[in-house]
Amino acid sequence: MTIGSYLNIQRDILSDMPELPELQVISAELTDILAGHSIKQITVHNHIVVHGLPVDEFTLVAVGEVFQKVRADGKFIIMTLEKHDIVINPMLTGRFRTVSRYKKPTKSDMVSIQTTGETFWYSDLKKMGRVYLVPTGDYSGVAGFGDRGPSALDPDLTLDVFKDRIKQRNGQIKNVLRNQQFVKGIGNAYADEILVYAGILPFRKRSSLNEDEIERLYDSMRKVLTRILDVLSGRSLDEIAIEKRDFMMVHNRGGEICPLCGGRVSEVKANRFKTNYCQSCQK
Ligand SMILES: [Zn+2]
Repeated sequence: MTIGSYLNIQRDILSDMPELPELQVISAELTDILAGHSIKQITVHNHIVVHGLPVDEFTLVAVGEVFQKVRADGKFIIMTLEKHDIVINPMLTGRFRTVSRYKKPTKSDMVSIQTTGETFWYSDLKKMGRVYLVPTGDYSGVAGFGDRGPSALDPDLTLDVFKDRIKQRNGQIKNVLRNQQFVKGIGNAYADEILVYAGILPFRKRSSLNEDEIERLYDSMRKVLTRILDVLSGRSLDEIAIEKRDFMMVHNRGGEICPLCGGRVSEVKANRFKTNYCQSCQK
């Protein structure tokens, strides 16, 4: 697999990836690779993704600090050092990888962090992601971080809590699922997957869902995300970065066969986002 192969993702349609399952697997792998290593040098290859600190401070203030752990928080990654956290919101095209030998930066490489072990690279084709360096635990300056709902995989998000939360939301059910204030971690792709498994059309108004459908939606959210997490757990950072989502039931599979019923998968594009669904499985 070549370093540059992930650049070949479609440029016209936004993928809205990574989502919570990717970020959980990426975080676990980054923890394995980086924990215990200290920062030798931070290099900003494109300042457009750096927020909250001037670039010269960003590159200097955490040098010498040791990586403790990396964790996913909804659609953010938090890399905990000794006195600071590096917070990354990869938005739609942010990618994470580590390399052990010298690598020349490409146009999509935004930030690299050289450690006493491997070098961490954050790349972003569309340059829409945001990278912050903040004092440990202080996320007040991180855009879109506060005021979010519980993680879609949080054990405390029980069916009862889910029911209470969803009843406060209006609009199309797919947009509700993707709204981080409702639950955090679900994006465009996995919202489609959750909805086909639940048998609910993405354009249905939340207010039209009955109790039984809301229960199916909750069950589907947990099962689909857990299954994807299991599938991704065996994959490397590079494999996740090239977005080989061969496990999808309907998303990005317009015109193909629905694995649940054998019918055709439908596709609608709106605001540069793709929605895929099955007209026979989903009501
Ligand atoms: Zn179907």
